[in-house]
Formats: sequence, structure tokens, C-alpha cells
Amino acid sequence: MSDKKTALVISAHAADFVWRCGGAIALHQELGYEVTVACLSFGERGESAKLWKQDGMTLEKVKSVRKAEAEAAAKALGVNDIRFLDLGDYPLRLDRDAQDQMVDIIREVQPKWMMSHSKWDPYNTDHMNTTQFALECRMIAQAWGHNPGQKVLGAPQLYLFEPHQTEQMGWKPNVFLDITPVWEKKKAAIECMQGQEHLWKFYTNVAENRGNHFRRNSGGMSGGRPAQYAEGFEAIFPQTVDELA
Ligand SMILES: [Zn+2]
Repeated sequence: MSDKKTALVISAHAADFVWRCGGAIALHQELGYEVTVACLSFGERGESAKLWKQDGMTLEKVKSVRKAEAEAAAKALGVNDIRFLDLGDYPLRLDRDAQDQMVDIIREVQPKWMMSHSKWDPYNTDHMNTTQFALECRMIAQAWGHNPGQKVLGAPQLYLFEPHQTEQMGWKPNVFLDITPVWEKKKAAIECMQGQEHLWKFYTNVAENRGNHFRRNSGGMSGGRPAQYAEGFEAIFPQTVDELA
């Protein structure tokens, strides 16, 4: 059981995981990981403008459309399990009950690594509050005194995926992941997000730009690896290694 490779993505809204780490999810699924995605909300109020412009739209309809889109995208990426906590958005309600739910999920999944948003996002406080929430829940999941008897969490890395309007967010990547082999899966997942069609081309450009950074940082003109598409991440915790790479 301890050999099972697992990962957990904590996404503020239903679509965030698709744009920001769809490649990492698809790639690790192919590497034998079971990836769980926890969507704290559907993004029903704040990230569904195209749906709200339709006549007769209601909150419940928007939520069900967003849920179906996220499930389709998760399927395209090979997500093992997607959970919807339905905590509301704009703003997210991240209270003690939400923490307890999330800690249970973390302990159940026992992720080898976790992912969430950038630490700072003045345009979307749901995103940065989710990162704080992820850090707090990771900490609680490590506490022997929280629900004694449950398996406590080790020390999974928390990777912060790339925010929108990157330069405004204080986000500085220190890991680039080549997602070229799974780009078609990420593209298929992106195209499930019918409500946010305006972002499809934008996130293709981001992946191409990060591919350039992958090439540059893997050796550049003197033997850098070709990579057409990549994703960048900011790792929060130090790595523990036996040999420097
Ligand atoms: Zn979002």
C-alpha cells in the first residue's frame, strides 16, 4: 500500500487544475500515479461569465454545467478521482468544517506530492486563500493529535502551479516539467472548458513559453533537451537528496 504512487491537486474552482497542471496530471497518470483532484468550488459565480450571459441561467444550472465540464476534463487527463467540496466561490468559505473535510482527503490519499495555487493573487483571493488552506490542511494532516488513529501524513512537496497574469503574482518557478508527450491530453481537457473558450489559446501559448524555459534550463544550445510544451511549478519545501543533480 505504501508503494502506491499518489498525488493530490487542490483546485479552488472547477477548471483551475486543467489550465495550470493538466499536463502534470496526465503525465503522472501515465507514470502509474493515482491522481486525485479536489475542487473546492465549481467557480459558479466568478469563473462562469459565458454561462451567466445565457437567458434563464440559475446558480444550480451553472454548477451542474461546470461539474460536467470538470469531470470530462478529468477523464481526458486520466484523473483517478475528482472530489467536489462545493464550498461556494467568490468568496470560498474555508472554515473549520472545510479544513476537516480536506484533511480527511489528504490522509486518505497519502499523496507523494500535492499541488495548489500561487501564494499571492490580488485578482482572485480564492486562489491565494486556497494555497493557505492547502498549507494549513497539510500541517493538520501531519499532526499526531488530530483524529488519533488515522494514518498521519508524511512530508509531501507542495508545488504551486502557474497563476494567471503570472508577473503580478510573485510566483517564481523552480521546476519545469516537460509535458510534450501528453500535450494532446491537456489540449483535449482544455477544450472541455466550453465556458472559458477565451483561455484556450492563452494557455497553449503559456505551455509553449514554458517549453522554451525547459529547453534553456536543461542545457540550452549546448545539449538542452527538446521540449515543445512544459508547465512551471514553484516548490515550497526543500528537497532531500542523496546526490546533487
Ligand atoms: Zn480559479
